[in-house]
Amino acid sequence: MKDGTDIPFWYACWSGNQSLMEAYPDLYRYAKNHLTDIFSAGLLSYGAADSVSSTDADGIWQWQLHNMVEMCRGEDTELTDSGDTELTDSGGDAVSVQQRHTLIAGLLSDLQQQGVRVYGDGEDTFVWSAEACGVFTVSSCYNRFRKNLSGPPIDNITVVALSHLWKVNAPPKILLFGWRFIINKIATKDLLVKRGIILDGDDSRCVFCAKENESLRHLFAHCEVTNRVWRKVFDWVGVDICLSREEFVNYFHYCGKITCVKTRIIGAVVWLSTVWNIWLSRNAIVFKNETFSFLGCWSEIVCNAWRWLSSFYNRVNYCNLYTWNILPFSCFET
Ligand SMILES: [Zn+2]
Repeated sequence: MKDGTDIPFWYACWSGNQSLMEAYPDLYRYAKNHLTDIFSAGLLSYGAADSVSSTDADGIWQWQLHNMVEMCRGEDTELTDSGDTELTDSGGDAVSVQQRHTLIAGLLSDLQQQGVRVYGDGEDTFVWSAEACGVFTVSSCYNRFRKNLSGPPIDNITVVALSHLWKVNAPPKILLFGWRFIINKIATKDLLVKRGIILDGDDSRCVFCAKENESLRHLFAHCEVTNRVWRKVFDWVGVDICLSREEFVNYFHYCGKITCVKTRIIGAVVWLSTVWNIWLSRNAIVFKNETFSFLGCWSEIVCNAWRWLSSFYNRVNYCNLYTWNILPFSCFET
């Protein structure tokens, strides 16, 4: 904070760990102007300080007690020293003038103790408190989120699966989808039922087969319709990838068995393209009332994987789509 003209006195969290609106709700209720700024709560002068002041090289900042009283005085109330209880238009229990004086004195005392200063020159600026220099960095933001928002611990198998995922150079939104898939946070219908968004019953059925309720496991592993897609994909890459079809369906839990890095990356991209396009096909049925096209889904899987890998290796001309479609592992030689 510098001159305090850009910081709302009541709403901003500028003194302590909460806003003054939260810390002093009774004073806030009586405030004449809820939108006032900090600078309006005092006076920067170069004369003698009164008993409630803080100093800096440019002058003396005085929290003005009479200003504060004025700010904390309801528009329709008469401020007297009688200690009478007054009613307030804004609801809640009335606070006597004497009580308000006590609250104001406490607020001033808190401001003094916290050493809040108004320097009077320059505009207010934002400072990133997670860095000593006050400048925002992504790493400090990441560390703060990790510290404050970390959920329950993830089992080791999932941690290893995620470590493989983050090494794949696919578009960020696809990696995020893969991440949500691995930690079972895709918004499948079973989760929507749990959250009360849809009802259990016809609404929660798998849109591909209509025989089972939709869950991540059913949609991407057990459904007879998507199983056909997996078989087609596995026939395409399975010989070279050295995993069983069941292992390929849970690719990131087993891809550590693949020793060749290039094969592991191509397999990962193909797997991501498969789950992504199955999900898009499912959404097209749910939200656009479209019908499922096996060949359409299959061609999107092949084309998307090729495009992502072409972007990764930057050798679009080196592996054409025709070769990719026939011999995927002969493409993208490093
Ligand atoms: Zn199904």
